[in-house]
Amino acid sequence: MIRFDNVSKRYPGGFDALRGLSLHVPAGQLTFLTGHSGAGKSTLLKLVSLIERPTSGNILIDGQNLNRVTRRQIPFVRRKVGIIFQNHQLLFDRTVFDNVALPLIIAGHDHREIGRRVRAALDKVGLLKHERAYPHPLSGGEQQRVGIARAVVNRPPLLLADEPTGNLDPELSREIMQLFEQFNQVGVTVLIATHDIDLISRMNHPILILKAGRLQAAGYARGAAP
Ligand code: ADP
Ligand code: ADP
Repeated sequence: MIRFDNVSKRYPGGFDALRGLSLHVPAGQLTFLTGHSGAGKSTLLKLVSLIERPTSGNILIDGQNLNRVTRRQIPFVRRKVGIIFQNHQLLFDRTVFDNVALPLIIAGHDHREIGRRVRAALDKVGLLKHERAYPHPLSGGEQQRVGIARAVVNRPPLLLADEPTGNLDPELSREIMQLFEQFNQVGVTVLIATHDIDLISRMNHPILILKAGRLQAAGYARGAAP
């Protein structure tokens, strides 16, 4: 689903966040991306979602080379990718419904279709009863689930999450991870950047470890408990 072929990313100022990185994220899997802070995890996700462009090398998403994507095509390619941030980036002056509807409004869907899809997404994350609420009174875990509903409402084949459990306690983190597993079980490819080693080691999914912008190791967690 995602292939990096000798990808480097140098930020303005000269810092090399990725250095000749090659890796593969298989379709249909839930894969963890880990490594110390500054290893390049966020940069990798930003390249996949076309928020940043690589300095050199090729990135293929679903067989499409991102270097050949023109500026005008970017919104269409982005629709294939749902992104979840640690701080969920919700609009606090809009209801839960309106937050989740945003990608559909941008994509130009009609009213009825928007209502149907938003409620389907809220149902999947267990928040249907809060559709008229504003994000503020909701708990951190609920706010994160609104962010997840917004990311899946377009039904993208690929979900990216950047430290999605970074602000949550272990119990809520587990719930959020189960949600990602549910989407994965219905065929969505999921890539989760996290440095929560505890969480990763309890689950049996492929792991990619970055170190200073390079792939340090790829494999599965040892001793993964059921
Ligand atoms: P991680 O997500 O693994 O913590 P990042 O991809 O966020 O790593 O960052 C990798 C390195 O690139 C860090 O040293 C960071 O300071 C640097 N970096 C990230 N974004 C920028 C930017 N926009 N401009 C300059 N340097 C950046
Ligand atoms: P994270 O902990 O998720 O890696 P950071 O706190 O390092 O995030 O960075 C927050 C934001 O600032 C990110 O969007 C990142 O790209 C940007 N950033 C990080 N380092 C730098 C830098 N040295 N110069 C400019 N922007 C940066």
